[in-house]
Amino acid sequence: MLSEFDLIARYFTRPTRRPGPVTLGIGDDCALLTPPRGSQLAISSDMLVEGRHFFPNADPFQLGHKCLAVNLSDLAAMGAAPVGFTLALSLPAARPEWLEPFSKGLLNLADRHGCELIGGDTTKGPLNICITIFGQVPPAQSLRRDAAQAGDDIWISGTLGDARLALAGYRNELPLDKDMLAGAAPRMHAPTPRVELGVALRGIARAAIDISDGLVGDLGHILHRSGVGASLDVDRLPPGTVLAAQAADLRRRFTLAGGDDYELCFTAPANRRDEVLAAGSLSSTPVTRVGSIEALPGLRLKDADGMPLPMQLTSFDHFASP
Ligand code: ADP
Ligand code: MG
Repeated sequence: MLSEFDLIARYFTRPTRRPGPVTLGIGDDCALLTPPRGSQLAISSDMLVEGRHFFPNADPFQLGHKCLAVNLSDLAAMGAAPVGFTLALSLPAARPEWLEPFSKGLLNLADRHGCELIGGDTTKGPLNICITIFGQVPPAQSLRRDAAQAGDDIWISGTLGDARLALAGYRNELPLDKDMLAGAAPRMHAPTPRVELGVALRGIARAAIDISDGLVGDLGHILHRSGVGASLDVDRLPPGTVLAAQAADLRRRFTLAGGDDYELCFTAPANRRDEVLAAGSLSSTPVTRVGSIEALPGLRLKDADGMPLPMQLTSFDHFASP
């Protein structure tokens, strides 16, 4: 049987890269970070609970990827560059068949973003994974929710709705054939955090959020915090490749209020469109202009002809749903 310390040493401990902001990694009472002079630390936590955020039989490699991806996505939405993260792990048993692929999925993605595992906690219990991530961003360049201004364009990275479509397939809410489910499933299990785009948008975008609970709800946080309203051109929202082949009503519902997209929704002044497009190319991330921020509070949905779309949509709320 693997002890707690063997487990940490075998699956989660690696040499600290030098030079870098991580002065001391795993093994002491605390990690030590030395951020470059003048930069701000961006800090965020996300917890993934079995049965709530992932299926009990979830593939451990994909789970390792996803639990770090959702945290990297929060850094991206702030315009912060990844530095390191801690991992608090509650596990029913120390099984190598699970730990090996889990740590691979986690650390492969960490390496791709130069984000070091610097500490954590390990305990026996129901499967529960909590990551706290640390990033750095120059002061005055962070992309805050409260910074949108009337007249800004609203942009979306990548595509929306395929993760929700896959979930609908698993739940038998929709008749999805095997190929469609196979096409949409990676969007649910292995989201791509838009870290490079977030960094490229520093000094260009004003406000940003990552879309985890559905566009309408998450854009609503920007509107609320910024004290503004918006119009969205619903038929301009970029659907995922599988969702694109579905009927218009489903396309609209799942792009507007799907969830688990982990794309960025951001605002930028209308005179900076070329720079936003350049940031998209620089980071190899498609960006689509989907609406505008307005002084009048509330969110107005419009169809391709600019006509108002009356739609009742709810975003995901853990305490509102069963
Ligand atoms: P403490 O008793 O101070 O909480 P632990 O014995 O829990 O310390 O952990 C020993 C070291 O291993 C610490 O540096 C801690 O950050 C690290 N650690 C524990 N669990 C994990 C984990 N799941 N992933 C990465 N590092 C971990
Ligand atoms: Mg501990």
